[in-house]
Amino acid sequence: MLRNNSTLTSESDTTCIFCLISNGQDKDTQVIKNNNELVCFRDIYPAAPHHYLVVPIQHIHSCFSLHRGHVDLVKRMAEMGKAVLQDQGITNMEDISLGFHQPPCTSVDHLHLHVLAPRSQIYEHLMHKFIPKTDNFVTEESLRNRIKDKAPILRAFNINVAKIYSPKQCILSDIERTDAQLVDTLE
Ligand SMILES: [Zn+2]
Ligand SMILES: [Zn+2]
Repeated sequence: MLRNNSTLTSESDTTCIFCLISNGQDKDTQVIKNNNELVCFRDIYPAAPHHYLVVPIQHIHSCFSLHRGHVDLVKRMAEMGKAVLQDQGITNMEDISLGFHQPPCTSVDHLHLHVLAPRSQIYEHLMHKFIPKTDNFVTEESLRNRIKDKAPILRAFNINVAKIYSPKQCILSDIERTDAQLVDTLE
């Protein structure tokens, strides 16, 4: 299958595990909450006592695919995450962590919000993956701020960005930094 089909947004991608889960096609994953736009389920590698993922049913590649038209989507993802935490008995909503990994630090290339609680009990050996305000982990609030003035990117250009991030490494190389700057310049 051509990878180009899965780099931006499309209805569904049969090679994407989160597309399968959101369409109820993965028997091993129990959906905890869903509506016509979003689905929430447990992270299979929990980094805290409560660790959920909220994903859009529509296949969106990553944070980098988002623009000003997605601000409310990000907001609704966070709202669902908080609602799930409350359903699960979390009462201290200050001690939670909501955020996104961004390429090349994503494990699945389908946009997903990590919802962790309590934040003070994130497991030490996994803590480095969830430090807010780093290139690795972007809080939902800072993501909304970052995209609120961002115009949609040309499709062809975004495909090139995706290629640069492969093979996956969790280190931002000079090429990637230049590329990220290029995105800003083009807008
Ligand atoms: Zn997908
Ligand atoms: Zn992730």
